[in-house]
Amino acid sequence: MKTIDVKTGRSYQILIQRHMLDQAGAYIRPLTKAIRAVIVSDTNVAPLYADRVRQSLIDNGFETSLFVFEAGEASKRLSTIEKMYTHFYEHNLTRTDIVIALGGGVTGDMAGFAAASYLRGIDFVQIPTSLLAQVDSSVGGKTAVDLPSGKNLVGAFWQPILVLIDPETLSTLPETFFRDGLGEVVKYGCIRSRSLFERLERENAMDFIDDVIEECVSIKRDVVEHDERDTGERAILNFGHTFGHALEKLTDYSGMTHGEAVAAGAILLTRISQAKGMTESGTAQRLETLLRKYNLPTSVDFALPDILAATRGDKKSTGKSVNFVFLKSIGECYLRKIAIEDFSSFFG
Ligand code: MG
Repeated sequence: MKTIDVKTGRSYQILIQRHMLDQAGAYIRPLTKAIRAVIVSDTNVAPLYADRVRQSLIDNGFETSLFVFEAGEASKRLSTIEKMYTHFYEHNLTRTDIVIALGGGVTGDMAGFAAASYLRGIDFVQIPTSLLAQVDSSVGGKTAVDLPSGKNLVGAFWQPILVLIDPETLSTLPETFFRDGLGEVVKYGCIRSRSLFERLERENAMDFIDDVIEECVSIKRDVVEHDERDTGERAILNFGHTFGHALEKLTDYSGMTHGEAVAAGAILLTRISQAKGMTESGTAQRLETLLRKYNLPTSVDFALPDILAATRGDKKSTGKSVNFVFLKSIGECYLRKIAIEDFSSFFG
């Protein structure tokens, strides 16, 4: 078992172990006095794993119930949260009970937000089952839902009491979902770990995926511990995301997965910064080769001015400027604010 301690305002552990779903209840039990546990999952994941998690909770003395919503980003909205609250109420969930998020990023974000807000906050556990959720979204305590006007506009910082990662769940993941997570994996190599990047070059990620998860989660833990509320250093996790979010917006959130958009955003920005002498030469070529190896996009169908226009509305923008993450070299990054009025001269 790999154990990673996260020391945020409320500390917790991330446990990585194959076939752990059947022991979920045993790991959760010592951390809570809860009588009831609600498992939140979607229509893809619940049929695969909910019974196993539920049985382990029952074996450890929990009364359980299961809330299942339609899989997909379209469900990530307040109306689903309201149905969740109703389920919690009807199943007599009290302030000392718990919510278990079993699924990918959408499930974790929504179950986390419902837990953060129901009765002004109850405990929750993350059991991420997609690569994206295992390496990224289940760690750090960001929870959210989308509004019609944009993604993740309503949410809360709410740390889980435990994160249980069973890499075995990745074996049932369709290839596009695996690729989605790899976009974030490559990002972690780029910003903080040359050794991870080089191992991804040399070997096949799936062959050492448990190590990949551990390394990405450790990097995220280090960054989040320094900046839990996302007011400074945490912005480096946004490498590739500024253009990536713009690309997601331009394709109506359906043309490419989040990880693909991040990959395309990363290579696009790195080509520009390298040409300007802000990034060690050769970096963009190496990144491009790696993205190609993992079937991630290396070009986009949009002109730079359109991407820049879509970037102005980014949530991370301060209105007057946008905080970009640039690579110094593979494994090293830095932040630089660029004023929107300077966009055309900088990117021109
Ligand atoms: Mg991301």
